[in-house]
Amino acid sequence: MKEILLLKNGEIVLKGLNRRQFEDVLKRNIKIALRDVGKFEITSAQSTIMINPLTEDADLDEACERVSRVFGIVSFSRAAVCDEKTLGSVLESAPVYLEKQLKAAKTFKVEAKRSDKKFPYKSPEICRETGGAILNAFPHLKVDVHDPDVTVYVEIRDFGAYIHSDPLRGAGGIPVGTGGKAAILISGGIDSPVAAYMMAKRGVKLTAIHFASPPYTSARAEEKVVRLLQKVSRYAGPMKMYTVPFTKLQEKLRDDCPEELFTIIMRRLMMQISERIARQNDCAALITGESLGQVASQTIGALGCTDEAASMVVFRPLIGMDKQEIIDISYKIDTYETSIEPYEDCCTVFTPRHPRTKPVLKYVREAQERAGFEELIEEALNNLKTTYIP
Ligand code: ATP
Ligand code: MG
Repeated sequence: MKEILLLKNGEIVLKGLNRRQFEDVLKRNIKIALRDVGKFEITSAQSTIMINPLTEDADLDEACERVSRVFGIVSFSRAAVCDEKTLGSVLESAPVYLEKQLKAAKTFKVEAKRSDKKFPYKSPEICRETGGAILNAFPHLKVDVHDPDVTVYVEIRDFGAYIHSDPLRGAGGIPVGTGGKAAILISGGIDSPVAAYMMAKRGVKLTAIHFASPPYTSARAEEKVVRLLQKVSRYAGPMKMYTVPFTKLQEKLRDDCPEELFTIIMRRLMMQISERIARQNDCAALITGESLGQVASQTIGALGCTDEAASMVVFRPLIGMDKQEIIDISYKIDTYETSIEPYEDCCTVFTPRHPRTKPVLKYVREAQERAGFEELIEEALNNLKTTYIP
């Protein structure tokens, strides 16, 4: 039996005049997500997007997987396409297509949706007739309209009649690309990939920035970040990653700044450099994986000192979350196992024994100015490495 996917748009339904544009972005994102799965036709009507496989070998199992990670879809169904748009064809297809589920169930109900008002039968009639056909085929079943084991959906649309069971849950959120662009500061840790995922969920298109300090940090550490971003891009779409050569800046920091301010000045340098890269890439915000109170550099005072270094808005989607809540999401997006691989991050190079948890901005700025990082910042910006994350 021929099958298609029916996708229900999420919040974009609410967006009034922008709806068309939102839908176009969503369709483009779906197309990118399915690019290596087969040939599909993607159309939309009545806040539903339809994915129609055009060749025999199009892999619908994989297509479902991919679609379940595209933001902007609340739910989706894999549905049978009836041979004809007639009640007869519906009655024939429903028991066959859902045979396995109906056999295993004790109770069921039918729900009909008739968006083609020219169809000669109204929804209650479609339900009654389909219910009858199913009872005929599976006499052990009983109808239960309140809490059925299986709900059989019949959808009569402009271009066909479709049968499916309970819809699957979509990724939610809004389509990536409709919420502007931002740069995610990505380490190899647990938090920043989750932060990236959360902002992509709100429609933000990402550019990634990673600071590397070879030989203190290894090529393996950077390669781990690439693998993490490949996981994130299953939700966030393809993105560019910039690797910033940070070694000389960190060495200068070690040599020319007071030890208790190492971390805070390093964070400020990261923000300053990231802001410049962000602007060059049309990004209007920075994103970090910081969570209040998690470490010394994430106290209110320290975050204030960090923020002051850049004039761009900084999103910290994890700010009010516990570590366990962050870990739960990292499991869900499948980054956890990669994140816990033990490679060093530049943040753990030259860590002070007693970092200031309440840094005074004036002294931090003075210490940073005294050392003078401008030339090395320029040099780092002139030597960025670009990696394309598919
Ligand atoms: P994570 O698990 O994301 O590494 P963390 O709890 O270990 O976070 P820190 O190491 O203090 O916290 O880093 C705080 C944030 O700073 C990170 O979430 C990330 O956004 C950014 N960051 C840290 N190290 C790097 C790096 N090497 N390159 C780019 N950004 C970084
Ligand atoms: Mg870290």
